[in-house]
Amino acid sequence: MATYSLPDLAYDPGALEPHLSARIVELHHGKHHQAYVDGANTTLDKLAAAREAGDYGSIVGLQKTLAFHVAGHVLHSIYWTNLGPDGGDRPTGELADAIDEQFGSFDAFRAHMTQATVSVQGSGWSALVWEPVGGRLLVEQIEDHQDHTILGITPLLCIDAWEHAYYLQYENRRADYANAIWNVVRWSDVAARFEAART
Ligand code: MN
Repeated sequence: MATYSLPDLAYDPGALEPHLSARIVELHHGKHHQAYVDGANTTLDKLAAAREAGDYGSIVGLQKTLAFHVAGHVLHSIYWTNLGPDGGDRPTGELADAIDEQFGSFDAFRAHMTQATVSVQGSGWSALVWEPVGGRLLVEQIEDHQDHTILGITPLLCIDAWEHAYYLQYENRRADYANAIWNVVRWSDVAARFEAART
């Protein structure tokens, strides 16, 4: 059976400096993301054992744990590819047009998503997503890895607001991290996800 595995980073851990320190990227990718991969695989094994035994006494906890770890793996996999040393600036083309149409302007979108990153309660994420039923972009604020999200959406840009994403460098100044991260957003990756989501 296929198992989840940690994707390699496409850049050196120090490549996002000064906006994100090498040590943060090393620990975040190699330890935190790895833990979600391991947790997803362990939980799948436990669910398989439950099916084998016909014993579903722990199913509620296992399903919640599965959602936490798989969503964590998905979000982190997108986060690492959303970022890069060649990032920054702002989107162009159809993605830029859709952002202007649905948020008023790029600056309004960026201010909205920055505040979503800054204000998430506890541990969580902000995300720019494509919602196919309405055919529109939305900003989501996700608690943990999976709460308050909308089924059927495609995440395009995911910003980690857990303390492990910034605390070693920014300490309690989450807003400084939430502003600095825009300097390493690869809009080419976000635009490719936007294109794939709509076609
Ligand atoms: Mn994280």
